Amino acid sequence: IAQASEEDVESFGLSLIKTEVLGSGAFSVVFMVEEERSKRKFAMKRIPKSSVDHCRSHILCEQKITRNISHQFVIRQYASFQDKKYLYFLFDYLQCGDLMDVLCGEARLIKTSSGPSLMACLGSGSKDGEKGNKKYLVGLKEELAKFYVAQIILVLEYLHTNGIVYRDLKPENVLVDDKGFIKLGDFGFAKNLKGLKGERTNTFCGTPGYVAPENVFTQGYGYSVDFWSLGVLIYVLLTGKQPFNQPKTQDPMVVVQRIVDANWEVPYPPYLKPAAKELIKELLQRDHKKRIGCREGGFMELKLHKWFKNIQWD
Ligand code: ADP
Ligand code: MG
Repeated sequence: IAQASEEDVESFGLSLIKTEVLGSGAFSVVFMVEEERSKRKFAMKRIPKSSVDHCRSHILCEQKITRNISHQFVIRQYASFQDKKYLYFLFDYLQCGDLMDVLCGEARLIKTSSGPSLMACLGSGSKDGEKGNKKYLVGLKEELAKFYVAQIILVLEYLHTNGIVYRDLKPENVLVDDKGFIKLGDFGFAKNLKGLKGERTNTFCGTPGYVAPENVFTQGYGYSVDFWSLGVLIYVLLTGKQPFNQPKTQDPMVVVQRIVDANWEVPYPPYLKPAAKELIKELLQRDHKKRIGCREGGFMELKLHKWFKNIQWD
């Protein structure tokens, strides 16, 4: 990250459109900014230095990883800079938002890491089914969900092959470009495992509801956590509901207990088709050594699963 004064941010040629907050998370706010001369739009992630003092190495990790990887389905980072108070990362602006926006239809919601966006969607009343007077959010059409998931798998394969575990897979971190293809964003929890003993790490991190059982325990874990989160993500895309972090669950310990027990059910409505349900079951396998993607067959077995039978992988 280049050293820069507050004035340098101005001289970089950016004017902030303050009304456009695109999203926010535990540490950051993402604004839409416009380059003064070209009027080109970017997304600018702003992270207060005060909030990241204790985990500076993680933030620098995000910076390093996103600058060093290049994949058609990964968001491109243009620049990073800082002033006295904040770190800034500049990305392509993706006007379609993320997969949670897609799931919520046209609703453009400001999401927070603590705010259950699914509930916000329910309130907005967009793209939801009707049952009596009670509205419920329905999932994406199976073929569309599959199209997104296939791209996510290709990105995970690229990342894992390059020694990177992503650790925060969820719809809010998967952006969509104007042609409908995905761009994986938010490498805030990504970590390079190359060079670590057994390519394992042990920091407990991720998003409640998406963390894998082996992440909860502190014996260390590797790439397997991304396959678990993929299972949760597929469930959310297809049903509009969460398998573990149900809206009514207030107590995080209850969620954790459900996760370590791999205790999830097929929601009603809508139904999950048998192949989808089977794939989710294979991904939400409590023992990571038996989980599809991490067990012997690796990515190939995952791609050959019958849910993907009409996907051409190359
Ligand atoms: P955090 O680490 O705080 O979760 P993210 O990088 O995930 O930050 O960004 C938060 C939200 O901002 C995302 O869920 C998404 O809705 C929105 N966002 C992030 N980057 C972009 C972008 N390049 N274009 C459009 N929206 C974005
Ligand atoms: Mg995020």
